[in-house]
Amino acid sequence: MIRVLANDGIHPHGQSLLEAAGFQVITDKIAQDALPTEINNFDVIIVRSATKIRQSLIDHSGGRLKVVCRAGVGLDNIDVAYAKEKGIAVFNTPAASSQSVAELVMGHVLSISRFLHRGNRNMYGGDFKALKKEYAKGKQVAGSTMGIIGFGRIGVAVARMAMGMGMKVMIADPYVEKREIPLFPEHLGVQSKTIVYSKTIEEVLKEADALSLHVPSFDKPLIGAKEIAMMKSDAILINAARGGVVDEDALLAALDNGHLMGAGLDVFIGEPNPKPALLNHPKVSVSPHIGASTNAAQKAIGQELADIIIGFFE
Ligand code: NAD
Repeated sequence: MIRVLANDGIHPHGQSLLEAAGFQVITDKIAQDALPTEINNFDVIIVRSATKIRQSLIDHSGGRLKVVCRAGVGLDNIDVAYAKEKGIAVFNTPAASSQSVAELVMGHVLSISRFLHRGNRNMYGGDFKALKKEYAKGKQVAGSTMGIIGFGRIGVAVARMAMGMGMKVMIADPYVEKREIPLFPEHLGVQSKTIVYSKTIEEVLKEADALSLHVPSFDKPLIGAKEIAMMKSDAILINAARGGVVDEDALLAALDNGHLMGAGLDVFIGEPNPKPALLNHPKVSVSPHIGASTNAAQKAIGQELADIIIGFFE
């Protein structure tokens, strides 16, 4: 029987699909330091970001391991090239969570626009009338410009939602000249499309009222002090890509100097211990890297994993 170790868990939907196809799925977590002695009991290992599949672990797989699956996007916890060299296939599920990440992005945009993060922190025991006055200068997003840097799966999902809320969308992606996107999710069955043309990053930085980043991580921040200075003084900056895409010190300095209306952050340098100065900053709306963490996204990931694994062994 083909044995699948889902070491960082799998949605029950994916597990039942695999079991119905005759696979044995083990969801009891094996600690990282115990994996080298256990890995040779499995044909497939499914991980999220917690379990690391490094060269030394692959060397212990005794030739049995055929597939490594990453439930999610990034493959930074897997030595992909080495696995492939050893004849082990590596897969991820990049598309399944895009809509959930995009929804979280819009949540942060709305939170900053209307001071929701501050209301939630301050209303209990606070002065209702004083807070009502303080949060009265919110922004309506309809009619404003959503800037998107990186126009792949999540960028497209954000664009569609922003347009649905009446925002003008500007994108910057050096690898995309223009992209036709459906205006409605497939399940609604409404056939309506629009074409979005890429601008330069500078143009988007200058025009955006809200700016969201949907790029891979790089060696150095894509958005540093120079880029932040180019943004409108009341703009909103969202990072739900990877910690380090934004220079956090430059962001804090800008916020403290009255530049930007605020920032929404789902990802941080040094997770799981982000800078305290970001977590309790009055102009920052935060979430603990939960972009893809919805039941719908995890179910879709489970479905995709089952399809990949069943397809592989067929
Ligand atoms: P994707 O590969 O579909 O899109 C990335 C886009 O970035 C591509 O279109 C690429 O051309 C563009 N790009 C590359 N370099 C660029 C540059 N210098 N300037 C502008 N654009 C550039 O990726 P995706 O699935 O949309 O994911 C985007 C990011 O979101 C990734 O960093 C991913 O790790 C992250 N992510 C976060 C969560 C979360 O929980 N917050 C969940 C899933 C993905």
